[in-house]
Amino acid sequence: MANTADAVIIGGGVMGCSILYNLAEQGLTNTLLLERDVLASGSTSKSQAILRMHYSNEVTSVLAWKSLEIFKNFEELTGTPSGYTRTGYFLIVGREDREAMYENVAMHRRLGIASEIVSIEDMRELAPMLAVEGDESFAYESESGYADPYSVTLGFANRAREMGASVRDGTNVTGIEVSGGKVTAVLTGEARVETAIAVVAAGPWSDRLLSAVGVDVPIRPLRHQVVVLRRPPGPDTDHPIVADNLNGFSARPDIGGLTMIGAGEEEFVDADTFNQGVDMDVVGPTFEAIAKRIPAMSRAVFRGGWSGAFTVTPDWHPILDRIEGIDGLYCAVGFSGHGFKESPMIGKAMAELITKGAAECVDISMLNLNRFETGDLLRSRYAMQVLA
Ligand SMILES: Cc1cc2nc3c(=O)[nH]c(=O)nc-3n(C[C@H](O)[C@H](O)[C@H](O)COP(=O)(O)OP(=O)(O)OC[C@H]3O[C@@H](n4cnc5c(N)ncnc54)[C@H](O)[C@@H]3O)c2cc1C
Repeated sequence: MANTADAVIIGGGVMGCSILYNLAEQGLTNTLLLERDVLASGSTSKSQAILRMHYSNEVTSVLAWKSLEIFKNFEELTGTPSGYTRTGYFLIVGREDREAMYENVAMHRRLGIASEIVSIEDMRELAPMLAVEGDESFAYESESGYADPYSVTLGFANRAREMGASVRDGTNVTGIEVSGGKVTAVLTGEARVETAIAVVAAGPWSDRLLSAVGVDVPIRPLRHQVVVLRRPPGPDTDHPIVADNLNGFSARPDIGGLTMIGAGEEEFVDADTFNQGVDMDVVGPTFEAIAKRIPAMSRAVFRGGWSGAFTVTPDWHPILDRIEGIDGLYCAVGFSGHGFKESPMIGKAMAELITKGAAECVDISMLNLNRFETGDLLRSRYAMQVLA
């Protein structure tokens, strides 16, 4: 392993790899990414990987919308397919969230995002397999879908390597060396890599590295379960992505006739020791919830599931910042349930922050660390936090 680099990225999830790739795109290729396990082994591998733009804050919707273009052109850019599959996305809300949804869709349309409110009649035409109770409202995004998190992470890493960057997995970072108010090195069990730039993108483990140099980041790992069902074949189960606020689930189709269902916001856990399986007492209610919305799913077959960790901040938005008081230290952490869809643009914005002093592609200044001190938090129009 090289013992010097212009920048060291800590963490080989989709964020670290996207930052590495974008630094290379911007001409910084004497870089090193260190991953303690294998690439994409953290939250990235557990992602439902839904690509949607429906959020309450412009910055999040813009990051997702501009990222969607990159997912669509990913193979041209990196040589690796992203697995982007267009399914369309429905958000279904009840009376209490109707205004919020209307305001959000109006904001999305101002931004040029393909988002619309659809009537019950249009909804029945677009997605006849969905049951309607009569009091719901529907937003629809025709371009939304999903992609493959493993392929995207590897695509970023491999293209960065072709451009000259280095990636080292199986390498645990044990500390960041700071001297005279500047980053001087990144430390592993065996090596000291001299560098003036360290970027912490270590998912739910990031706070350990940052607190060791006196930086507090308010992130906590939240266990989130995914239930997998095999759909009975036929058009009455061949569904788009459905985020159903009333029944509390988000379901996306997968290859092989499967459906992955995100089953709600759950308990805070220890990122190293939490139960990565799915709880049987979650499976039953999830099954009932989806069968209420897609009646033919009552004939689906349980195929297992898993749990992963959302890394959440108090406002469910990430911290994308340079750390005040330590020159050369950056963090890209706290992506909750929406990091994957934003990862192409976050990598670009972080690379600009590092090489040019500010992100130019998207204004990310409101995602600073200081907001938790000043109280300038981002706010969701919904109570269901994952909709942020
Ligand atoms: C169940 C679930 C469903 C989700 N669904 C969606 C979705 O539908 N759409 C969406 O956009 N997002 C979704 N997300 C969120 C998204 O997956 C994450 O925001 C994103 O993957 C975070 O990527 P990351 O690179 O920041 O973190 P991670 O993938 O966790 O990567 C961090 C990496 O750092 C490494 N690391 C940690 N400590 C060290 C160290 N000391 N030294 C070296 N390496 C270290 C870890 O091994 C890990 O590989 C979901 C997440 C979960 C858990």
